[in-house]
Amino acid sequence: MNRVALLKCCDYDVEKVERKIRDGFKILGGDEYVRSIIPQNSNILLKPNLLSIEKVGSPVVTNDIFFEGVIRVLKDYSSNIKFGDSPGFGDTRKAAEKCGLIKVANKYGVEFVPFKEEVHVTLDKAIRCSSWNVSKEAYESDVLITLPKMKTHAMAYFTGAIKNQFGCIVGTKKASWHTRMPEANNFSKMLLDLNSVLGTDYAIMDGIIAMQGNGPKNGDPYNMNSIIMGKSLSAVDSIAAYLMGYKDPLETPILKEVYDSKWGPVLIEDIKILGEELESMSVDDFELCRKGGNFYFVNPTVTNFLRGMIAPYPSLIKEKCIKCSRCVEVCPETPKAVLMKKDKKNEVWPEWDMKQCIRCFCCQELCPVGAIETRKTTLGKLLNGGDR
Ligand code: SF4
Ligand code: SF4
Repeated sequence: MNRVALLKCCDYDVEKVERKIRDGFKILGGDEYVRSIIPQNSNILLKPNLLSIEKVGSPVVTNDIFFEGVIRVLKDYSSNIKFGDSPGFGDTRKAAEKCGLIKVANKYGVEFVPFKEEVHVTLDKAIRCSSWNVSKEAYESDVLITLPKMKTHAMAYFTGAIKNQFGCIVGTKKASWHTRMPEANNFSKMLLDLNSVLGTDYAIMDGIIAMQGNGPKNGDPYNMNSIIMGKSLSAVDSIAAYLMGYKDPLETPILKEVYDSKWGPVLIEDIKILGEELESMSVDDFELCRKGGNFYFVNPTVTNFLRGMIAPYPSLIKEKCIKCSRCVEVCPETPKAVLMKKDKKNEVWPEWDMKQCIRCFCCQELCPVGAIETRKTTLGKLLNGGDR
């Protein structure tokens, strides 16, 4: 049975984080276990979540102290550690600098490798996508370890280990995947193939302070006090989903696809949880970004019709909008599904064309001030209740 360590850690205190990760490795099988992931003389690539340029301590990105705790432990197993990412928007180096990861990396001789170069890979037995261009650094590393932040996500409901690896698609190429895979089920299948291509070896999730509400960029911090680690990305994600409030992991699009395609363990009864008791760590007041409804899982021939009727849509919070046009820039659709337009009062605001919008929520994800939220259609509310 697939083993996952669930650890309680209430502060970003580097000694404590380091100790907890050591405890996790110990209960999962000690040195022998770690060596089964990190063979002697192998090079390690760490993939944190660097969604955008955020200050130190922001719940949007993998925390710098958490990152330091991980490095302190991994240093015992390899002297060749690098880290890298390619954020959804903005300069990778600035993102890594601003949130403190470069400072930590420099302290321990960990090299920063912003993902720029690509390598073409073909995946046999793909679920959905067999032809890939992915980050060369990520693909060519001996051991790829994902360090996701536990957060809500408008399209994927939550983002964890599997979704974090989307950053291994270089730069603006990410947007084209949204256009090619507008439905959450196909997008999820694509993410599973991506992780198969990359061969992501391990996940250590930063759930000490998670993000609730309008994630993945504009939600609020939530003290989840947890670190989750394991070889199976889907098992780690499933435990994270449970802690947040998805008692049935199949309620979430990515884990539903994992289950349907038998990509990895998902059901709680198929995962051996070591460390803390799951029930004692799970919470009931975490504000989910999305819940209910398998309405994304529809026959493609009726997708557009159903999307308009029941799929949630991006909606402007005018009081917050600074009219920066980033939502227009990041929209992957051609022509754009959101444009800056004059209203009746001659004021310029972003305006959405819902017929064109594929509901990828890139605009919501990357709005710098949280001025976009997800809203449900009337039918969506009737089917699933609530506004989200
Ligand atoms: S909604 Fe956000 S991204 Fe779009 S213009 Fe307003 S502030 Fe900028
Ligand atoms: S308007 Fe927003 S949600 Fe719609 S396609 Fe563009 S980025 Fe995606």
